[in-house]
Amino acid sequence: MKINNDIEEYDSLGDDHVGTSSNTPLRLDAFKLSNEEKIDIIKDDVRHIMETLGLDLSDDSLNGTPNRVAKMFVKEIFGGLDPKKKPSASTFENKYKYGEMLVEKNITVYSTCEHHLLPIVGKAHVAYISNGTVVGLSKMNRIVDYFAKRPQVQERLTIQIVKELQEVLNTQDVACVIDAKHLCVNSRGIRDIESSTVTSEFGGKFKDKTVRREFLDYIKLETKF
Ligand SMILES: [Zn+2]
Repeated sequence: MKINNDIEEYDSLGDDHVGTSSNTPLRLDAFKLSNEEKIDIIKDDVRHIMETLGLDLSDDSLNGTPNRVAKMFVKEIFGGLDPKKKPSASTFENKYKYGEMLVEKNITVYSTCEHHLLPIVGKAHVAYISNGTVVGLSKMNRIVDYFAKRPQVQERLTIQIVKELQEVLNTQDVACVIDAKHLCVNSRGIRDIESSTVTSEFGGKFKDKTVRREFLDYIKLETKF
């Protein structure tokens, strides 16, 4: 039962991958292969696609592409599938007793649409109301980035960010709004360069209209330096 052992091993790393991130449709044997083994296999697959398209891979410009793409898939744009890359859940005591909403806005989102494997680029706005625990501000950016680095649908990404912060902060009072362009819509198919997609998830106190309004008003503030 090698597969089960692997799953247990990942569970024991405290990453909670199976529990909290089960919404990303992963196979049970997702981590059976090492990253290096994955790169090796994907490299051949990319070469196969390019050759099937009729490209001459002996050309100097194309020669390194399969390896480059394979590394980029495993280590960068889909690196967030690897539970070891999950940002550590270090939190702090809320010493200032700041009881109001904290909003981290305009967090850059680089993700990949899982239906076309084309980029999703946009902004995430994340907020929480502390119940005694706080996280470093950059932790919110890192959590967004971790879940973005997967084949995604924007709705799931929004929910995963909220769920993770709810767990880390031990409160339901977390919200996230993402406004993003999907290149599969902007550059192909309907080719609508202007459209963007907005998704939101409001937990706990953010379900209240006034609290939600406050959060949305902060997002609208234009920050200029
Ligand atoms: Zn798409």
